[in-house]
Amino acid sequence: MLRVIDQAAASDVGRVRRANEDAYYVRAPLFVVADGMGGAQAGEVASRIASQAFAAGLDESLSPERRLANVVAAANREIHDKSVSDPAMQGMGTTLTAVLLGDGDLTVAHVGDSRAYRLRDGELTRLTQDHSVVGEMVRRGALSETEAERHPQRSILTRALGPEREVAVDTLSHAVRAGDVYLLCSDGLTAMVDEAAIAEAMGSGGAMRAVAERLIARANDAGGVDNITVVAFRVADSAGSGAAATTPAGEPAADVDDGSRTLAGAPPVAVPPASGGNQLEASPPGSAGGPPGSGVSPAGPRTPAGGNGHVPPELHSRQVAARRREQTRRPRVLLGVGVAIVVFLIAATGAVVGSLNIYFLGVDQHGLVTVYRGLPYEGPLALKTYTKDYVSTVPADRLPAAERKALLDHKLRTRGDAVDLIAEVEQRQLERAQP
Ligand code: MN
Repeated sequence: MLRVIDQAAASDVGRVRRANEDAYYVRAPLFVVADGMGGAQAGEVASRIASQAFAAGLDESLSPERRLANVVAAANREIHDKSVSDPAMQGMGTTLTAVLLGDGDLTVAHVGDSRAYRLRDGELTRLTQDHSVVGEMVRRGALSETEAERHPQRSILTRALGPEREVAVDTLSHAVRAGDVYLLCSDGLTAMVDEAAIAEAMGSGGAMRAVAERLIARANDAGGVDNITVVAFRVADSAGSGAAATTPAGEPAADVDDGSRTLAGAPPVAVPPASGGNQLEASPPGSAGGPPGSGVSPAGPRTPAGGNGHVPPELHSRQVAARRREQTRRPRVLLGVGVAIVVFLIAATGAVVGSLNIYFLGVDQHGLVTVYRGLPYEGPLALKTYTKDYVSTVPADRLPAAERKALLDHKLRTRGDAVDLIAEVEQRQLERAQP
């Protein structure tokens, strides 16, 4: 009989974002991580719905795969319906990775780019496939894992809860052995910390609490550009031969048969505290009447990945902008220049304000270089198609003209690119300030 003898969960806002859109739910033998996205607080709402969907319990009459998949499907419908009916929630979505430890096996249900890992005999195995443009490029052989880790478009998802009323859920069961250590995490960890370091932390032999804290610290040391969530647990024989050695003193072990109990110090339900998310601007950033940093003509509409310009009409409610055409038999949204135009037209009606995973650089009302989320246009009736995401310390008028022009070109970027650019500008500004 196998059971969880040590577990920990932690979530951190990171060093760049102001709000934590990740959520987790831990009630051994069930462990869940969700990474939300959407304008204003919508991402937090989506990840919370997804993680809390498991609080009602699982239908024990079904197979483990079906049990998890049913909860995921119901959460997806709830998120989708809310995103359609509530304008403030439009376009919200979330990843979801859930694992359920059973009698000798572990069942994984997964959508998006959060991940589940297993460490066994020092060997790290990824139990999930990233549903992202970059993840699919790796599986096709178009990118190496190393290239993927630093790819600017790595955060663009091809599958998430929310965008459609039905979602395909990957479910798979794996044999479990005593001594296995499992880890669930959001991409805020894997974008910052390589798998060798993840394996090293998981194999350190320490308490799961220490493993989670160490990994979050490493992600923050590497830049912490996104919210970081880590859930970790260790499995042992309930006979206890190896268990006593690895259970932290004073910490009772949870019995995996008992879904109603959790470890002391690990709340059954934990959602990272919300802080101020991105708010819609009350007044237009930049000079009156134009988009932020107006005076520079907008670059042609671009989307983060190439495509053939075919645009299905339902794109307006999509948070997941990038889709691959040959991936499955399900209808797919294709990306292309045409998509950006349609997205803009719909955004101009306010339908997707603040809900896009598209960013550009501009100047705020104080003249500071700023990352905006959305599209660099003003919609009709003074509707905003962008929200303020990150304000730098750099006044735009202190930049050399060429740099300013290149920076404030209103080119559409991924958030990673926009933040990298701002970081470079801040660094150069510091260097110029040196005597
Ligand atoms: Mn994330």
